[in-house]
Amino acid sequence: MQKTSSHTVISSFPEHLLEVTYPLMEDFYTIQGEGAHTGKPAYFVRLAGCDVQCWWCDVKDSWDAEKHPKITVKEIIDRVAESKAEIVVITGGEPLLHDLQPLTDALHTLGVQIHIETSGSSPVSGSLDWITLSPKRFKEPLDEIYPYVDELKVVVLRKKDLDWARKHAALCPEKTIKMLQPEWDTPKSIPLIVDFVKENPEWRISLQTHKFLNVP
Ligand code: SF4
Repeated sequence: MQKTSSHTVISSFPEHLLEVTYPLMEDFYTIQGEGAHTGKPAYFVRLAGCDVQCWWCDVKDSWDAEKHPKITVKEIIDRVAESKAEIVVITGGEPLLHDLQPLTDALHTLGVQIHIETSGSSPVSGSLDWITLSPKRFKEPLDEIYPYVDELKVVVLRKKDLDWARKHAALCPEKTIKMLQPEWDTPKSIPLIVDFVKENPEWRISLQTHKFLNVP
């Protein structure tokens, strides 16, 4: 893949959109640990702000957007351009609390694929190449996201979450990849998931392999 240099990006992208800011909790180049793209290198952009507030959330620090610095689109794309990333994962927090159009348009000038991990509970925005929907009981997805879901990833803590997973799968396109993921601190769900996938082979298991690899 040919990547555009950040200098070219700056000269070819409207200046006022490069100055748009987003609250950023952290960004880092690592290995995608979860879901269908597990094992691929990816640049993660973790935007701050979340109104879903799952009690088992492992990034609670992301919830309050005010706690985090506002970073310009230009700063974000400059950092991505310095890496060899071919995939950028926009995550959170709940990234769809923000209008992602300026950020995704700018990132696309680098030639990267843009993935998002979202609860789907806010309106979809931006130009996205891969949508991972991870629905949460605490604030359910809006209907508008289902036709665009590439991957459905349901975190499972207990048996009733499997019915919850089926309910959302029925709303997604047939091509959607369906994944069940044990919550890291609730390993007792693993036998439930294994039995379910053996009985329902259209589903797969997603593990948080970045935690085994000890990478962010
Ligand atoms: Fe945490 Fe994601 Fe739930 Fe928000 S939607 S509380 S970031 S797990």
